[in-house]
Amino acid sequence: MTAPYHGRCNCGAVTATFASEPLWVRQCWCRQCQRAAAGSATVNALFPIEGMTLAGEVAWKAYDAASGNTVEQGFCPSCGTPIFGRNSSRKDSLVVRLGFLDAGHGLKPSSVIWLDEAPAWAVIDPALEQFARQSPPPLSPGAS
Ligand SMILES: [Zn+2]
Ligand SMILES: [Zn+2]
Repeated sequence: MTAPYHGRCNCGAVTATFASEPLWVRQCWCRQCQRAAAGSATVNALFPIEGMTLAGEVAWKAYDAASGNTVEQGFCPSCGTPIFGRNSSRKDSLVVRLGFLDAGHGLKPSSVIWLDEAPAWAVIDPALEQFARQSPPPLSPGAS
């Protein structure tokens, strides 16, 4: 599938449409992501804010990421589904949790970051570009 992509949280209170292709899709094993993703990595797509439409209320919680940036996690206040990530150093794009997108979107990660913090049982696809911590510029900084 190609753009536009649609997404919804588990309860349907938040829905969104993304008009363009993501700038990247990657997996993140940082500790904050493991907490957000129930013990596994998050899978994240970076979409430009331009062309994005959003319906429903998103709750935001800020924390200091391992990268040193301030990262905010956006989630549905009703059902708790992780939806967005936002980085203090990046204003024109938004990280979207891949699970938020409707089935059949066809997007998949091309890289994996923060392997230093992955548990020993994590199975990493050797086809992915791999980074021990944050990926170097221009991919950096991550909001995941
Ligand atoms: Zn919801
Ligand atoms: Zn992360």
